[in-house]
Formats: sequence, C-alpha cells, structure tokens
Amino acid sequence: MVANRFIDLLPWKRFLGFALLGCFCCAGDTAMQLPWISRNMALRAIADNGIHAVIGLWCWSLVSGLQTIDDVLQTILCGVLSSAVDLDHFIAAKSFSLKDALSLKSRPPFHATTLIPVIACFLKLSIYLHPMPRLQNLPWIFSVAWFSHHIRDGTRRGLWMWPFGSTPPIPYWLYPMVTMVLPLVTVVILQSMDGKKSRTFATIPQQLV
Ligand SMILES: [Zn+2]
Repeated sequence: MVANRFIDLLPWKRFLGFALLGCFCCAGDTAMQLPWISRNMALRAIADNGIHAVIGLWCWSLVSGLQTIDDVLQTILCGVLSSAVDLDHFIAAKSFSLKDALSLKSRPPFHATTLIPVIACFLKLSIYLHPMPRLQNLPWIFSVAWFSHHIRDGTRRGLWMWPFGSTPPIPYWLYPMVTMVLPLVTVVILQSMDGKKSRTFATIPQQLV
C-alpha cells in the first residue's frame, strides 16, 4: 500500500528526473575541478554560475512538468533567478570587475538565506493585492531558485542566517539530497497551501499532502 502511494508520488520517469538532478549536482562540481576550468577565474565563474542556473531550471521543470508554454517560461525564470543571485557580488563591490566581485571581505546581500522568506512573502502579498494569474507561482519560483543556490554555496561557507550568523558548511552529501527533495517539497506545499493541482503530481493521494 505504502509502496503504491510512493509510486503514485514518483512514477519512474519522474524519479529518474530527480535522481539525475542529484547526479548533475555532483557531476557539475566535479567538472569545476578540471584544471582548465579551475585555473581560469572567468571560466570558473561562468561554469559555477551556469551550474546554479541549470539546477534552478531543473528544479522547476520537475515542479511544472513542462507541459505548457507557461511551464517553460516559469522554468526559464527559475534558472535566471538562481543565476541572478550572484549579481550581488558586483553590486557589493560597486564594480563590474570579476576580480573585485570575487574579492569581497563579507558575503553579499542576496546570499542571506533569511531574506528568502521575507522576499517571498512580499511577492505573495503583492500578487494578492494585484492579482496576476500568470505570476501566481512567482514566490515559489523565487524561493526554489534562491534556496537551491544557497544550498550549493552552503557546502563551502554554510548558510548565512543574517542577522544571526552562519551555519557550519553543509556536508557535501546533503547538498544533492536537499536539491533533489526541494522540488518535491514545493509540489506538496503548492498542493496543500494554494490548492494548486499540479498536472504532473495530480495523482498524489490527498492523505499524503
Ligand atoms: Zn552564490
């Protein structure tokens, strides 16, 4: 019975998508170790940011199911938002120089994990006050994009819980696990809180959500 419910929740094609996401997390970081990437500051920054973007894209593609043009646009937006977190390096450095951006003495503002629920609530309130049906999922897209970015960065420096300080670095094995679980948790939250019926997870039994 429990096994049947699990299969309903994660049909094998979807399970493969989640598993491959975890594999990509590890493969991407392994590729970053290649000498011709790790020794070149610009290439390293592009590859690092590209991996953040792909993880964001991948996460929301698992949430949306990529069945409509809106699903595709939301997925692209999630990738862009995940990549955009690192813009704060340039904002904090007040410079377009990559060297300046990567030589900050403290962590830049978009990397504060405590900011995510604050901005998500602000977006939710804005959409509630000014209903925009196509942007209903924006707070969740934003949260998945930024949290997936923070989790990956957290393996090096921990999560920055401003103003309380930082957690210790996240164990590396935990990062692909959390990244894989993130889209699944998002779908369950969307179904239970917003009453949104995800097409791809429409078979989730109600007692599970
Ligand atoms: Zn970052």
